[in-house]
Amino acid sequence: MVNHESARIIQVFDTTLRDGEQSPGCSMTLPEKREVAQRLERLRVDVLEAGFPASSPGDLASVKAIATLIKDCTVAGLCRALEKDIDAAREALAGAVSPRIHIFLATSPIHMEYKLKMSPEQVLERAVAAVRYAKQFCTDVEFSAEDAFRSDRDLVCRVFGEVIAAGATVVNAPDTVGYAMPEEFAGFIRYIKTHTPNMERARLSVHCHNDLGLAVANSLAAIGAGADQVECTVNGIGERAGNASLEEIVMGLRVRKDHFQAETRIDTTKIYPLSRLVSQVTGVKVQPHKAIVGDNAFAHEAGVHQHGVLANRATYEIMTPESVGIPQNRMVLGKHSGRHAFEERLRDLGLSLHDALVEQIFNQFKVLADKKKVVSDRDIEALVMEASASAPETWKLDRWVVNCGSTLSSTSTIRLQHQGGEVAEQAAVGTGPIDAAFKAINRIIGKEPSLNAYELGAVTSGEDAQGQTLVKIGLNSRHWNGRGVSTDVVESSIKAYLAAINAMEWELAASPQP
Ligand code: MN
Repeated sequence: MVNHESARIIQVFDTTLRDGEQSPGCSMTLPEKREVAQRLERLRVDVLEAGFPASSPGDLASVKAIATLIKDCTVAGLCRALEKDIDAAREALAGAVSPRIHIFLATSPIHMEYKLKMSPEQVLERAVAAVRYAKQFCTDVEFSAEDAFRSDRDLVCRVFGEVIAAGATVVNAPDTVGYAMPEEFAGFIRYIKTHTPNMERARLSVHCHNDLGLAVANSLAAIGAGADQVECTVNGIGERAGNASLEEIVMGLRVRKDHFQAETRIDTTKIYPLSRLVSQVTGVKVQPHKAIVGDNAFAHEAGVHQHGVLANRATYEIMTPESVGIPQNRMVLGKHSGRHAFEERLRDLGLSLHDALVEQIFNQFKVLADKKKVVSDRDIEALVMEASASAPETWKLDRWVVNCGSTLSSTSTIRLQHQGGEVAEQAAVGTGPIDAAFKAINRIIGKEPSLNAYELGAVTSGEDAQGQTLVKIGLNSRHWNGRGVSTDVVESSIKAYLAAINAMEWELAASPQP
């Protein structure tokens, strides 16, 4: 029986912009982070961890920008248990409506001995001192016992009890290395809940990693055992095998509310568009069979299944695609579609844009509709992504020529316009058409970033499909992504490379020191 009166509210703490962003290949530019942060706010997460301000001036600047932008949820900044880290977080969060300082310190034997070179007593002392220091500047302080699951339980309880006495409002027990089994983790959480002094004065949080594929299972088991907050990321991105996936935890609680008697404040209809956005900005694809948001999550292929679903969807569906924001059964958009239908589709896709950008994308849509019979949702998404989350155009593509074949080296001539108005042209020889084009661009801009990833894919199927290119570049151990779409793959590659170059130029101008 579902008892609506007594359902506990589980707080959703999203760390897509911190744990997610710091994982390999997931870096985002500031405009991309701002866009993701606003969408998380509209998804109604309770807490949004914006970054680790002491880790770099760039991270401090982006936490600062997000802290002033977000009004409807708590914005957290991560710190080590050091005064200088807490000072950086305090500075970064100064403009937040509801700031939270999040301090972490490891409590497991292996971390204390080899990483921290500290005794348990020293860890306890440092944790309390850090929370007490942070508490002077921020009423909301979270303390994480890093690698809690592999720690001595009584030490975790002692540390938690003391930091709560020092003012911590949330204590977090992570399975940092993804080692726990669900029943065991539930037992661990139950133990902490009952053996931590002052536990009734703070929330108990969990943060699970997916090294054995159990991050969501462990998070849900912890909720069943009394945890009040879950830390998670969109699409489960994060260090190594990733974090617990937000969408799976939220829908697990929603579909099985009868089991958990718990719920979140999340607007689940915003899940799918946000999953698409995070996949687009990070360039990290979602596997087709991924629960909730994968391409096949609601596809019914087998005849017997199709028959059942046609008769009654509940035969093979435990939730509807609409409930997670996957738009269904819409009219096909093509060259005769008007602005009104186009804007409605943008809304359905969760792509709310300001008017000037709608105008620009609508014009691009019309050009595309002339080349393609049917413009799909993925096409529209690709156009929006290319235009909305990108950095200002320091360099703009004016024109290009690339020659390639089997008998001669590939050559390119590229002409770019600088934002100041002047045009520059260079030619280059390369091992292939893309290499030749990128080399000519490097000559114009006078920099040689490393090309760390290059991916070319088709946005949709069919011979008139648009090519979408993702480029990841690096310079002095900083990284930028760029995307480009075009029905010509050489052009989509040049556009993607220029987008990454523009992100680089913009960030280097804003914060030259890494
Ligand atoms: Mn983590």
